[in-house]
Amino acid sequence: MNNSRTPKTSPITDDYEISNTVLGLGINGKVVECKDKRTGVRRALKILHDSPKARREVELHWRASGCVHIVEIIDVYDNTYADKRCLLVVMECMDGGELFARIQENGDGAFTERQAAEIMHSICVAVRHLHDTNIAHRDIKPENLLYTSMEPGAVLKLTDFGFAKETLTPADTLQTPCYTPYYVAPEVLGPEKYDKSCDIWSLGVVMYILLCGFPPFYSNHGLAISPGMKKRIRLGQYDFPEPEWSNVSSAAKNLIRGMLEVDPAKRLTIHQNTNFNQL
Ligand code: ADP
Repeated sequence: MNNSRTPKTSPITDDYEISNTVLGLGINGKVVECKDKRTGVRRALKILHDSPKARREVELHWRASGCVHIVEIIDVYDNTYADKRCLLVVMECMDGGELFARIQENGDGAFTERQAAEIMHSICVAVRHLHDTNIAHRDIKPENLLYTSMEPGAVLKLTDFGFAKETLTPADTLQTPCYTPYYVAPEVLGPEKYDKSCDIWSLGVVMYILLCGFPPFYSNHGLAISPGMKKRIRLGQYDFPEPEWSNVSSAAKNLIRGMLEVDPAKRLTIHQNTNFNQL
C-alpha cells in the first residue's frame, strides 16, 4: 500500500492489468475492473481527468482511507492515458453494489428498524471519522454507499469524494493571517460546522427513506427538483404519513427530526447521532 500520499508516476500497467469490465459510471469518470499483477487480487479503478478538483477528491479520499466504513484507496497513479493526463485511483473492489439498488429491490421499499439501525450505524462511523479529521463529504446518498459483497456479512462503505471539502476549525482559521480576532464575524469562526451539518441533513434523508421507502421531500410532478420542493426543504416541511410510519418508534422519528432540523446550529452533530442501539 502507498502511504506517502503522492501519486506514483510509473505506468499503472506495470502493476495492474486493466480490464474492459465497467463497474460503474459516474459524472466524473468511469470505474473499471483491474487486477493486481503481483497478488492476482481484483480491484476497482476510477479514472479521473487531472484537474485541481480531481486532485482534491483524491487527496481527501486518500486521507479518509483507513476507516472500516470508507472504501479504501490502495494506490494512485498520475499517468497519461489516451493522450490525457489522468489520476488513476485503485480502490478495493466493492462487489455488493450500491445501497441504492438494495432499497429499490426491497419490495415495499422499507427496511425494519433493526436493519435501518445497522445501516445507519455503518454510515455514521464513516461520517464521524470524516468529521473528526475535518472533512465534510457533502454528497451522502445511497448511490455512494457500496457493499463489499453479496454475502450476508457484507460491509457497507462510503465512497465518492467528488464534493468533499476540508473544514477548518476556528483555531485553524484564526491562525491564518487574514483574520484579526477582535473583528472576526461568527460565520468566519464556524464555517466548518455548516459544511459538516449538511452531511447530517443527508443522513436524516437516508434514514427516512430506509424506514418507509420514499423520500421526505419530493416534487409533486415527478421532477428532480421543483420550486415547491425547494420551499418545503427550506421550511423543513415533511411528515410521517400513515400507514408506512404507524409502526415506527418515536425514538426513530425523533432522531430523524434532530437530523432534518432546518437551523444548522440546532441540528444534531455526528457525536450526538450515533446511538442506534436505542432503536
Ligand atoms: P462519480 O464521482 O463519477 O459519481 P463514483 O465514485 O460514485 O463516481 O463511482 C461511480 C459508480 O461506480 C458507483 O456508483 C459504483 O456503482 C461504481 N464504483 C465506484 N467505486 C467502486 C468500487 N470501489 N468498487 C466497485 N464499484 C465501484
